[in-house]
Amino acid sequence: MHSIDIDTVEMTLDIMKYAINRISNTSPEMGSPKQEQDLMDLVGETVTKEGIGGEKAFELFKDVLVKATVPVDHPRHLAFVPAAPTRAAILFDLVTSAASIHGAYWMTGGGGIFCENQAMKWLVQLTGLPKGAFGVFTSGGTSANLSAMIAAREAWRDKNEENKAYKALLITSNGAHSSVKSMAKVIDADLILVDDEEDKLNGKWLQQKIDGLSGIDRKRLFAVVATGGTTNAGIIDDLESIADVCEQEDLWFHVDAAYGGGALAAPSVRHLFNGIERADSITIDPHKWMFSPYDCGAVIYKNMELAKNAHSQKGAYLDIFKDKGAQGFNPADYQIQLTRRLRGLPLWFSLAMHGTEKYTQAIERGLSLALNAAKQIEAAEHLELVREPSLSCVLFKRIGWDAEDYRDWTYKNHQSGFALVTPTKWTKPANKIGGKEKTETISRFCFINPDTTEEDIAEILASME
Ligand SMILES: *Cc1c(COP(=O)(O)O)cnc(C)c1O
Repeated sequence: MHSIDIDTVEMTLDIMKYAINRISNTSPEMGSPKQEQDLMDLVGETVTKEGIGGEKAFELFKDVLVKATVPVDHPRHLAFVPAAPTRAAILFDLVTSAASIHGAYWMTGGGGIFCENQAMKWLVQLTGLPKGAFGVFTSGGTSANLSAMIAAREAWRDKNEENKAYKALLITSNGAHSSVKSMAKVIDADLILVDDEEDKLNGKWLQQKIDGLSGIDRKRLFAVVATGGTTNAGIIDDLESIADVCEQEDLWFHVDAAYGGGALAAPSVRHLFNGIERADSITIDPHKWMFSPYDCGAVIYKNMELAKNAHSQKGAYLDIFKDKGAQGFNPADYQIQLTRRLRGLPLWFSLAMHGTEKYTQAIERGLSLALNAAKQIEAAEHLELVREPSLSCVLFKRIGWDAEDYRDWTYKNHQSGFALVTPTKWTKPANKIGGKEKTETISRFCFINPDTTEEDIAEILASME
């Protein structure tokens, strides 16, 4: 398996050819969903005692299996948070694999970690955090949020011996990402959700919630998680007033900007993030709006020492990495993972090749597609804009449709390989409509791919007529 023979050479050529074709393909096929049993009927068992051979396995993958997936970079894939890795970044993902670098410690990963840190320097600078702030690349927003929450909890416990006896308590908003709620479970912290009456969390609502806590709950409270671009609607919490409260109340202030973080590089909306520079930690997912291939998240800390106190792993076999000769930045010390791929390398190469200005342009493109979509929706008789676009998210309604209509429409478009746009739910707060709050099924666009066109939007909207 580790030797090089004619089969290996042929397989290498086949795979490179496929990779070149796929990377240069501007309109990849949408792919249609299939049940597991259907796939099994088509390909049979693939892992056997003798092996089925590289040629056969690759053929099954190319001809059958990959066709049952949705390429995230399809220009009419506007569901969830899609992705659109740059060609340079994807190519360098191949290089990252081929180079076989262990990215946990400088001793083994030095030159590669240098590259990651160059990219990280740009991210940190976008946040406006003070000198000394830095970060590491993670497998995604979930593990970035988890790493930050652990750092916050440990810092709180270290502040006061008494805190070690308490179960930690965290405040976030209704609009926060599901990962914040599940990572609170992972660290066994309780969670309080603030109703975001005006769509977004602000200092006033936060302060009211804190003032209403019992004495013991106030002692258990260690952090606030605000969102810099909710996944469903692109809403950015009022970070400035939340920062005021966190400062006043001596609470760790985390900003989850996994999706929205890309917009820090977009001058047209940068002001919406004012206050983010006062955060203790920030999550940004380069695999969302910074055009990195999966998977690449990032966690950034104001105070790296606090992160290190929480995350640095100890073991007899690890001492060598902390030796003088091996000294340098050790990514393993700042997040939950030990052995790690240098997952920031693709972003670095693409940034180095294209420069940051091109990133700004590509992100602004997503924002202007959202504005264009809103215009088209407002002009169409059969549609209604649910709210003005926030970042690159657009929420809209097909007048007269119920949940089932949206579902049927989604499946029809997906099955035919035309587009992937999915329904979501939106709750109108009581104070906006007078009376009880109301939850509706609606549809949603999220724009990431700069190759999506205004015509794509028009065609998708026309398919709702
Ligand atoms: C996507 C997202 C996450 C989760 O990130 P993963 O990379 O999927 O783990 C967390 N928070 C927000 C706001 C997100 O949009």
